[in-house]
Order: sequence, then structure tokens, then C-alpha cells
Amino acid sequence: MTPVQPIQQAQLPPSFYGLSRDQLASHLVTHGLPTFRAQQLFSWVYQKHERHPLAMTDLPLSFRGRLEELCDLRLPPAEAVLATPDSATHKFVLELAGGARVECVSMRTTRRLTFCLSSQVGCALGCAFCATGLMGLKRNLAASEIVGQVVAMGDFHRWQDERFNIVFMGMGEPLANYKALMDAIRILRDERGLNMGARRITVSTSGLVPQIRKLAGEGLQLGLALSLHATTDELRDRLVPVNRRWPLRELMAAAREYGERSGRRVTLEYTLLAGVNDRPEDAARLADMARALPSKINLIPYNPVPGLEWKRPDHRAVEAFAHRLMPRAPAVTVRRTLGGEIWAACGQLGGLGA
Ligand code: SAH
Ligand code: SF4
Repeated sequence: MTPVQPIQQAQLPPSFYGLSRDQLASHLVTHGLPTFRAQQLFSWVYQKHERHPLAMTDLPLSFRGRLEELCDLRLPPAEAVLATPDSATHKFVLELAGGARVECVSMRTTRRLTFCLSSQVGCALGCAFCATGLMGLKRNLAASEIVGQVVAMGDFHRWQDERFNIVFMGMGEPLANYKALMDAIRILRDERGLNMGARRITVSTSGLVPQIRKLAGEGLQLGLALSLHATTDELRDRLVPVNRRWPLRELMAAAREYGERSGRRVTLEYTLLAGVNDRPEDAARLADMARALPSKINLIPYNPVPGLEWKRPDHRAVEAFAHRLMPRAPAVTVRRTLGGEIWAACGQLGGLGA
């Protein structure tokens, strides 16, 4: 009897968006093409925002004809795009290979356009007030799926903005998907590509201390935001369970190292939960913590998540907390809530409203 042969799966080409320029060049070389084609492709896709082989007029026809078998230029399709009534915030639900969905958000203020990216589908860390945490971790995103979010949102906005900022504050813990995160950042920073300065990219973490230290060693001026939310280990253990592994003392030491090595102030994110972490003594401790390193405080009034009992403090309580901090802390801002109407505000990504 002849053994049943496994069906040969056609080798799918790699996604364009997951390859650095060097990786693309080596890939093209293995197909007998010169390395400078990689530079030309980067320029077409990331600078002229043109992905159709027909449009790439300075490339030989023979190469254009093979492009689709060499690399996959398709973006994850948007299953839904939701806009706030003022059109300042858009939430994108992108469909990924394998059927998973990921959400990302664009926010326009008078000063700038910001893209809020996801790094994982769901999240394993289970912070007590976060919709993504309720989903558990479904899977990590590939670098191509991270860069793909930027290109999809840039296309939607027709690349009108010469500069935009990126914050890794969507679904997932970016430092738990370290390699894909750094691969994506390398691609986004490529001067022959989107040419994003590291200073315009901020990574937000719930506090994975070894990875914060590793990031400090990368020698990049990336912004780092730390999800602090509590000033005692007792409360932080409850709100941000990863604190049980790396308590405040270790976390603040790593944050300080990051601030000193990167030359950038670390943002201390503090989600205000009424009656839980918004008392005067919390403000006093938070100000002291902020003074111990180059930092700024960003207060985030809690955004409601269905099924969770936390309460958002009213406007006056937020102001009062900020005013208690101000004379003692280096810098304090209150994050504007953008996108609450479409379940796109901080902590609300996770299949709500779409
Ligand atoms: N996973 C990363 C990025 C998360 S989103 C992190 O945890 O840092 C950005 C910020 O929103 C984090 O500080 C997160 O703790 C906070 N957040 C989560 N749920 C929230 C909610 N319901 N309301 C307000 N902020 C929330
Ligand atoms: Fe994960 Fe961040 Fe949500 Fe915590 S706040 S569950 S780390 S996405």
C-alpha cells in the first residue's frame, strides 16, 4: 500500500509589514533579486503609501508581476470602523488571520493625531478594572499585525498628517510580547520607511520589571508609561495583580533606571477609582513617588466597563486630587476621555460596542 502523502501546503509569502528592510532585502536576494529592491518597496509602501504593483512605475514589470508571490501586501481587513459623533476618535476592529480580532484607536486633538495600538489579542494580566483583562490572553500579535494597524489607520486618514504619535495602550501588555514589539518598532522607525522618531512612540506597561530593564538597555528614546494606579503594595496587589510578582519597590527602581538611561521622563499612569485610590493620603504618596525619578503623572478617570463595579470619581474629585498633587509632584496632567461613546477609551477595548 502506498502511504498517504501529506498534502503539500503551498508556502505562503511572508507579510511585508513584518519584515525589516534588511530582512526584506535578504528575502529578495534568495529569490535572485538585488537588495536595493527592498528600499524601493519600502519607499512605495511606507512613504508614497502605494501598495499596488501597477502603480510602482519605477520597478521593472517582471518584478512587479512577481511581487504578490514574494510578499503579502494585504492589510488585515477592517470589520468595523466606529466614529465618535465629533469624528475625533475612531475605533477599528481588524480581522486577523485565524479569525481573531484586534482593536485599535485613532484620536485627533487640535495638536496631533495619535494611534493607539494593540500588542496582543486579550491579555493575561487581569487588572481589576480593564475590559481586555476580562478576555484572558487569546494570542500574541505578530510584528506584521502591529505595523499593519498603523498602515490601516494611516490609510483611513489618507496620510494627511505628516507626523503622528503612537502609544501602545490598546489591548494587551506590550512587554509580554517583547520580540514582536521591538521588531515592529524597528520597522516603524526605519528612515526609509515611516521614519517615526522613537520619541513619538510610547510603550505602556503594567510593570514587567525584567522587560523594563531590558528596554532600558535598548538605548532608544522611547516613551515609557507605567500603569501605577496604587501607592501601596496592598492595594496594587489587588488592582494590578502582576504587582505580586514585582512589587512597587522593584518597579520604581526599574522605572528610575529607565528614566535615567533613556533621558526621558517616565509617565506614571494613575486610573482614579472613586473611594479606592483617590484619597488625600494617596495623592501625598503618589507625589512622593513621582519625585523619586524623572517622571510626570497622568491621571485617568476610570472608564466604565460593563460587569465591573468600580466608580469614576466626579469632575470635582478629579480636580481636587490633581490639585493635591500639583505643588509637590513634578508634572501632572489629566487624560481627556476620548472615545467613551464607542467603547474606545482606555481599558474599554475587548469586543464592546462593535
Ligand atoms: N497593557 C498596558 C496598556 C493598557 S491601556 C498597561 O497595562 O499599561 C493604558 C492604560 O489604561 C493603563 O494604564 C491601564 O491600566 C489603564 N486602564 C485599563 N482599564 C481602564 C479603565 N477601565 N479606565 C481607565 N483606565 C484603564
Ligand atoms: Fe492587560 Fe493592561 Fe488591561 Fe492590565 S490594564 S489587563 S496589563 S491590557
